[in-house]
Amino acid sequence: MCGIVSYKGKLDAREVIIDGLEKLEYRGYDSAGIAVINDCGISCVKKAGKLENLKKALEEDPIEGKVGIGHIRWATHGEANDVNSHPHLSNNGKIAVVHNGIIENYRDLKKELEEEGYKFKSSTDTEVIAVLLEKYYETDLLEAVRKVRKRLVGAYACGIISADEPDRLIGIRQESPLVAGIMEDSFMMASDIPSLLKYTRDVIYLENGDIVDIEGDSYTIYDKDEKVVDREIKKIEWSVDAATKAGYDHFMIKEINEQASVLEELIRLNEKNDEVALDGDSFTKEDLENFERIYIVACGTAYHAGLVGAYALEKFAKIPVICDIASEFRYNDPFIDENTLIILVSQSGETADTLAALRLGKKNGAKTLVLTNVVASSLDREADKTIYCYAGPEIAVASTKAYTTQIISLYMLALDFSLKLGTIGEEKYKEIISEMKKIPEKIKEILDDGEKIKAYANEIKDCDSMFYIGRGLDYKSVIEGSLKLKEVSYIHSEALAAGELKHGTIALIEEGTPVVVVASQENIMEK
Ligand code: GLU
Repeated sequence: MCGIVSYKGKLDAREVIIDGLEKLEYRGYDSAGIAVINDCGISCVKKAGKLENLKKALEEDPIEGKVGIGHIRWATHGEANDVNSHPHLSNNGKIAVVHNGIIENYRDLKKELEEEGYKFKSSTDTEVIAVLLEKYYETDLLEAVRKVRKRLVGAYACGIISADEPDRLIGIRQESPLVAGIMEDSFMMASDIPSLLKYTRDVIYLENGDIVDIEGDSYTIYDKDEKVVDREIKKIEWSVDAATKAGYDHFMIKEINEQASVLEELIRLNEKNDEVALDGDSFTKEDLENFERIYIVACGTAYHAGLVGAYALEKFAKIPVICDIASEFRYNDPFIDENTLIILVSQSGETADTLAALRLGKKNGAKTLVLTNVVASSLDREADKTIYCYAGPEIAVASTKAYTTQIISLYMLALDFSLKLGTIGEEKYKEIISEMKKIPEKIKEILDDGEKIKAYANEIKDCDSMFYIGRGLDYKSVIEGSLKLKEVSYIHSEALAAGELKHGTIALIEEGTPVVVVASQENIMEK
């Protein structure tokens, strides 16, 4: 996801932080902000949109200070507007926080704090951290941070400052990345190394559970058990250029490699103690009992994920499901009434044909549920329910990590429906969850074998045409594989249900024509 940069030292914090945020822009983001400590307490400027917008706002309001925190955001909770941008302040305005990640239990915490009289300005999960810090703050920011950390469930890397302790900067890390940069008389913390390199090459890779307390001219790191630890300072030898796109040559390869970590996080968000606990908004048992049919409607890669989802929903929830292409759907005269559920899948949440399908469904009384990666996108705003895919920003045009997060989200939804309807046996359900949890590790194993993949690619790279075949679920995978090949290499490719090959297309397969076969299901392996 997105990034944070914080600084404490002799230089102008605003300048160092903006420099650092620019080096994180490659991650993709929707808003940016910065807060510094000065004689007025905490001054904060934040803006939706590109860093340019923040820079313009800072020209009009040039906040200054030697201690500060900055953020670029990829919204997970609440739309991308000025109010939801980070930093977030406590109710008394004395504590400011930037956060990268997701606080899973923020709803419970928010409710608890509201009952105690605290107010919330934003719809983010992050604001609960700032408000909790105010609640626990007595005289020592570190003590308050320790107490707050015990209340948080989820992933977070944070930068924290307090107007009452102007010579202090605290960082915490749990799951989301955070590195510290060490200089003679200054300190930085950031989500990634490129943000530090203009100022220092001496860095510490922080570990899960670490708290970094920078006060005066020194820093102390506490581990997850609150013991002081001595983390090794490493010298970074590579250049800023080599570090953009996180060291990868292209965004697409970066995003392919991010699959293991985003899926791990997605599964963690939707599962508690081996039980499905959907993070998103689903339907009640009564709603589900009224659905006589489900349509899954999407375009391109999302449609391919939808095909897998249709299989899982029909098989486990035992409701008839049709998966249709969004640009076809409204011309197919679909049977839609108030007992129809339409599930729409779109990475951006803005796909025009998918939006048209949603509107047609609503007009005819159907219930709608959207699976998207972009909070507050048009589909998110217009649908009855939304499930977020939490793939993080996808910059490459060819979808990769969004596709796999859509499939896992649809499987989770199928399990949620079938549990509520009582259509799945306990054993099967446990087996699926347990296998699902192994997927991130399996993805890592495959990607670690990059040389083998490259060798295969080398063998076929000069061909004119290729075929992909599979049956059942494998057929649904090869359609996506074939599309990916076309999009990325411009080699013509066609995907077929393996049994269809003999009905004509086989005539095009000659000596030397590459055919990719996916055969992962025991029951049809022999075929
Ligand atoms: N969950 C937070 C939000 O929606 C932080 C997102 C991020 O990591 O940028 O504001």
